[in-house]
Amino acid sequence: MQVSEGKVVAIKYTLKDDDGDVVDSNQEGAPLPYLHGARNIVKGLETALEGKQAGDQVAVMVPPADGYGEWMPGMEISVPRDRFPQGENLEPGLRFQAPTKNGPHVFTITEISDENIKADGNHPLAGENLHFEVEVVEVRDATQEELDHGHVHGPGGHHH
Ligand code: ZN
Repeated sequence: MQVSEGKVVAIKYTLKDDDGDVVDSNQEGAPLPYLHGARNIVKGLETALEGKQAGDQVAVMVPPADGYGEWMPGMEISVPRDRFPQGENLEPGLRFQAPTKNGPHVFTITEISDENIKADGNHPLAGENLHFEVEVVEVRDATQEELDHGHVHGPGGHHH
């Protein structure tokens, strides 16, 4: 069965940056299932997996435009420290969701001082080339419910 829109695809992947450092990987764990065509994964990787089948290996370099986007200036915010819950273990790299005029958005803490927390609204991998090595482990038809929801249910997916 080939990877195409409406299939549930389980993958093992390693993601490296331009320096060859591993940014993310699930080689040691369970394969990651996603719903193909629903943008559960970045566009460039989805395109590269189109037409593949179980057992296929794919190596692809995804540029920012097809990955997590270009790094945008002006997405940095500064929040008074006392707006965060007391006792919370705040540190650079920690991510939190905050309301914006365009709806909830995820920010990553970049700097902490006594008065202020600085955070960046760009995805941590914005502006980065994504070097993926992927093995297709399984391809199956999605259930109607999965298609309706736009994501995978069951092991490795959503439970609800
Ligand atoms: Zn669901």
